[in-house]
Amino acid sequence: MPDGPQELAALLAGAEYAVVLSGAGISTESGIPDFRSAGGVWEEFDPMEVASMQTFLTNPQRFWRFHRPRIDMLRGVDPNPAHHAVAELERRGIVKAVLTQNIDGLHAAAGSRELIQMHGGLDRGMCLRCGARIPFDELVARADAAEDGVPLCACGFPLKSGVVMFGENLPADEIASAFDHAARADVMLVVGSSLLVAPVSQLPAVVLDGGGTLAILTESETPYYDRAGVRLHGRAGVQLTETLALLDAPG
Ligand SMILES: [Zn+2]
Repeated sequence: MPDGPQELAALLAGAEYAVVLSGAGISTESGIPDFRSAGGVWEEFDPMEVASMQTFLTNPQRFWRFHRPRIDMLRGVDPNPAHHAVAELERRGIVKAVLTQNIDGLHAAAGSRELIQMHGGLDRGMCLRCGARIPFDELVARADAAEDGVPLCACGFPLKSGVVMFGENLPADEIASAFDHAARADVMLVVGSSLLVAPVSQLPAVVLDGGGTLAILTESETPYYDRAGVRLHGRAGVQLTETLALLDAPG
């Protein structure tokens, strides 16, 4: 028997240091397909090939032919009520940080401020040779200007976006920061993550080991389902908006 917004609101109301851990499921209501799900983009492309460090280094044209339509799709998407509710929880001082696997930028667009993007994000371009970083709009402008669609750094090397590629290390500072927040958290609210991909899958255990409580809001069961103190199903936007309303209610 799943819990409801009532239980989640009660848990959050008593939290000293709540953090949100979000995955692809929080963005599906914005129209972004979960690319690992059936019918997702990885059924058409072999990710290890097109979105990999190897392809980027040996065939940047092929890498960018795949990457560019995804960027354009994501730039036209808006945050949904779940992203807005998470940002509002932070404004109210309940949520201290948002740790996300998503690269879509929708938490930032909704106003989340302490945002840890563990898989990078579409907020910059970067050069793997000289370390240069450029604003994201500039990256797109250079891709548009290039005949073969590959944006180039001033040093002549192909630029990549801030999204972590297969075969590339996750950003060490972001991962360290995520574990710091998890170690401080007395409540972790997991939204739309299946908690299957390491090291993200280890974060709930850090909270539980520290005596904290896990709340899980997903479409399907996760490996932590049995250890969660609060379990919700259904649309994240609806559940979180109701939770906010309950936190507003007197008493
Ligand atoms: Zn460079």
